[in-house]
Formats: sequence, C-alpha cells, structure tokens
Amino acid sequence: MKGKLAIHGGPKTVPEGLKKEWPEITQEDKDAVLAVLERKILSGVHGPEATGLEEEWAAFTGSRYVLSFNSGTASIHSALFAAGVGPGDEVITSAFSFSGSFHPILQQNAIPIFCDIDPRTYNIDAAQVEAKISDRTKVLMPVHIHGLPADMDEMRALADKHGLVLIEDACQAHGATYRGRIAGTVGDMGCFSLNVTKNLSGGEGGLLNTSNEAYAERARMIRTFGEQVGKEKEKIRPYYSYTIGWNYRTQELPAAFARSQLKRLPHYNAIGQRNGAYLNEQLQQIPGVIPPYIPSDRTSIYHKYRIRFDPVALGVRGQVTEFRNRLMEALQAEGVECTVWHVTPMTSFPIFQRLDEGYGKGCPWSCPFYGREVHYNPAEYPEAQRLMDESLVINTEPYPIFLQDLELMEYYASAIRKVVQHVDEIL
Ligand SMILES: *Cc1c(COP(=O)(O)O)cnc(C)c1O
Repeated sequence: MKGKLAIHGGPKTVPEGLKKEWPEITQEDKDAVLAVLERKILSGVHGPEATGLEEEWAAFTGSRYVLSFNSGTASIHSALFAAGVGPGDEVITSAFSFSGSFHPILQQNAIPIFCDIDPRTYNIDAAQVEAKISDRTKVLMPVHIHGLPADMDEMRALADKHGLVLIEDACQAHGATYRGRIAGTVGDMGCFSLNVTKNLSGGEGGLLNTSNEAYAERARMIRTFGEQVGKEKEKIRPYYSYTIGWNYRTQELPAAFARSQLKRLPHYNAIGQRNGAYLNEQLQQIPGVIPPYIPSDRTSIYHKYRIRFDPVALGVRGQVTEFRNRLMEALQAEGVECTVWHVTPMTSFPIFQRLDEGYGKGCPWSCPFYGREVHYNPAEYPEAQRLMDESLVINTEPYPIFLQDLELMEYYASAIRKVVQHVDEIL
C-alpha cells in the first residue's frame, strides 16, 4: 500500500540542492590561513593569530581578559583550575550537556554533581540547584545548551549566597545574550569552543573570558605547563613550572581561520535567529509539536534547533523512543536534516554507573579528600531523559539552521506539518 509520506513511497517535500554545508569557507578564510604559512609562525601563546583572536574576541564580547586554548574542554578545565577546584570538591552542572562539560571536573579530581533540566529551556533547572549545594560545592557551571543562555541571575544569586564561583559553559552560545549581556561574560568566567561544529569555529580551539585578573593569570599558567608566561613575550623563557599544567595552547592556523570566521559570526547568528523565529512561529501551529521556548529576556543563537513532540497528542502507543526514531526516519525521507543528539543524559554513561574508571584507582570518587558516596541514579534526572526521548534536532552538524536560506526552512516546516498530518502511517 502506497502512503502519502516519502518514507512509504509518497512525494518528497524538500527539493534537492537547497542545503548549505557547514563550515562555509570563503576566499578570505583561505587567504588568512595561507598568510600564516607564508609568515612561518605556527605556534606559541604570543603568536600573532592567537593574540589577535584573543583581542578580537575580547572586543566582540566586551571582556577584560580573553585566553585562547586548543579546545573548549581545555578552556573549561583551565577555568575550573583557576577557580581552585581540586580533590574532593563538587561542581554542579546540567544533566543535559556534552562530555566536554564533565571531563574537566574529573580531571581536577573533583566530583560532578548533576542537576535536572527545565523542560522548556532544556537548561539547568535553577529551582533545583540549591538542594544540590553542599559544603563541598565550589563551582556552579550552567551550560547554555543549543545556544540559549541559562537562568544566570538565579545562578548568580545562588553563587553569591553560598560563596561559589560561577562558570558559564558557553561552548554552544557565541554571541547569545542574557538581559542585554553577552553569554559567557555574565559569570565569573565563560568558556567557548571553536570546534568545527560550533557557530564560531577554527576546526578545534577554545576561548576563556573573565574580568578577574587573578583567574586569568591562573588559567594562563595551566595553559603552558604551570609556567608563568607573561602577557608580553620575554627574552628568555625560564621553563619553571610553578604548578601542575597542561599544554593547552592553540595554533596559528586554526586561530587565523577563527579570526576570519569571527567577522561573519553576527551574520550567521542573524540567520539562525531569523530561521529559528520562523520555525517557532510555524511549528507552534502544528498540534503535538512543541518548538523551543526562548524567554523574552534572552536570545538564542540556535546552535542546534531541537523540537519536542507530545506523545499523547500524537496518539503514540508503545515505546516513545521507537516512535521518535520512526518520526526521524520519516522526516529524513522528506528531506529534512534531522537527528538525535544524545539519547540518554550524561549521568547514565558507563563512567558514572561504574565509578571505577575515573581519574585512576577509583578517583575522584574514592579519593579520601572526598570521603563520601555519590550515586548517579538516572531516575533522578527525569526531565533530561524525557527530553531525549521526546525530541529531535532539526538540523545536523554539517547542515545547521544558522547557515540556511529561509526557503529551506519553509520546506522543513511543510515537511513537519505533512508528517504530523499523516502520523498514523508511522504510529
Ligand atoms: C563543544 C562543547 C564543549 C567542548 O568543546 P570542545 O571544543 O569540543 O572541547 C563543552 N561543552 C559543550 C556544551 C559543548 O557543546
């Protein structure tokens, strides 16, 4: 029996040839990267591209200090180090994020404490954070997931009340705003990724923002083997390690690429916001589809465009995750770039279920400086799990909505409307 849906042999909604592939690489980008090879300075914290990137990002965000890194994860690790996180300390973060948020906590021999999410914003539920704070808590680290800033005023109030450092994982939120301020400059430190999938990329890379000189200096040390590397290049590098450190420096080639792309970040964010607003408007009219919610006091850069569906309204019987997968396949057959991004919250990863493969010899969990027990029971993060079960990302990393023409979004909206109208074919 031939159905109406493309997955059952019906006509495909989205015509070929409309999708633009990320990253966009212009002649200007190529010239910028080639100029680095011509110059033959390829590395070093004082390299002209690394320092140029830091200066331009500081100007873009209005931050006092910016440090470049070789990944977003390295910038988060450095921020945690700068905040003084160490053995036995706890860091509270969102149950729904990417591994780059929690690995640096473990790398400081500290304990990640996860908090469930607000089902509307997908960000950490500020109302549940205080109950997680203990005498071991050192840092609150909200994540601006998919480009939407978390509830920063609430987090700031909790940090101040309990004497905690507030670090923003802004790795998905370059240029998003919260009450008129740039995400990543609202907390004590903000961390950004320049991984190729992000709205600002260099291939790989990271940035750390802060207005606190002491934090900037400590982060600068961990970046180069715990050495005191000054802002200016010294004539002789003494190679003295004052503290533990890593080699977290960025390189000139990716820094040059990121600088060139930074000129177009406002352009990409504007496209994301236009397309996001259009899809929100269209999809809210489709029964059973719940577009992302953007509180009026902040802007998203739509790093990812995730929609929820209401299984009850759509008449889903049986396993909701099976339905989600069929819905995804039906949309893909219509020509919509769509995917799942994480199918379970991070708390259910084997590392958190076993608690024996951490830093080594059971650390950080068995570290005597901790001396407590922590369990990561997936049932304690029901909203994060429900989001994974009942949502799809309407873009893939090579085809983000912040690069696409409105025409493609019109076809996407039609495709989603069509699949929902014929949902009985996939129930
Ligand atoms: C990408 C990302 C990171 C880590 O960035 P890398 O540059 O890949 O190390 C951390 N947190 C979140 C939320 C991210 O999306």
